[in-house]
Amino acid sequence: MKLYLVPTPIGNLEDITLRAVNVLRSVDAILAEDTRTSGILLKHLQISKPLHSYHIFNEHQTVQRVVAQLKAGKTLALVSDAGTPAISDPGFLLVRECLRNEIPVECLPGPTAFVPALVNSGLPADRFTFEGFLPHKKGRQTRLSELAEEERTMIFYESPHRLIKTLEQFAAVFGPDRPASVSRELTKLFEETVRGSLQEIITYFADKTIKGEIVICVQGKS
Ligand code: SAM
Repeated sequence: MKLYLVPTPIGNLEDITLRAVNVLRSVDAILAEDTRTSGILLKHLQISKPLHSYHIFNEHQTVQRVVAQLKAGKTLALVSDAGTPAISDPGFLLVRECLRNEIPVECLPGPTAFVPALVNSGLPADRFTFEGFLPHKKGRQTRLSELAEEERTMIFYESPHRLIKTLEQFAAVFGPDRPASVSRELTKLFEETVRGSLQEIITYFADKTIKGEIVICVQGKS
């Protein structure tokens, strides 16, 4: 009886640990955010295991079923499409319910997008706050005004089509001269990190078609 949370690559398939592979080989079944995406990774790793769907749309209903399987003695692994489960991905509800039921939980260390983005940014990494995705509408302005006084480096996940709008809102709240970085397509073929003031980064991306996955880091208030 045990739940493993197993981080998977955020792009480069070589970024999976030996232990992650061994755990995925040893469990009774794998819970996946998207069984097709994880199926491709498992095929690449030559791992053949029962794959069950576990995504944000069915998380509340599925939790009790998964807990029952664990209590029956099964050992399961939860993976997300990329990176570490429960980091801007499903997982938290299941971990909390397992702990309530005294089911052992172990999260393996491994890939997650915000750590390389923070370290690559060149911004202070001794203290930081991970903000994940900002709310799209309701609560967005409140969150931004709360962050106006934040002194730690702030890390955000963002989609490419919202990047410019978000950077412009950041420039309005934090000031256009605030140092920041945008990391795109980490570990992939077209990986790039753009560093500078918020205004410089807006100018860099303004006339480009922005594609891929993105992490924004913004220095805290000095
Ligand atoms: N669980 C993942 C993790 O541990 O980082 C995050 C999943 S979240 C649904 C997806 C977001 O993570 C993307 O929109 C992007 O902001 C960020 N992300 C994931 N992979 C990335 C990559 N290779 N480069 C840059 N950002 C990435």
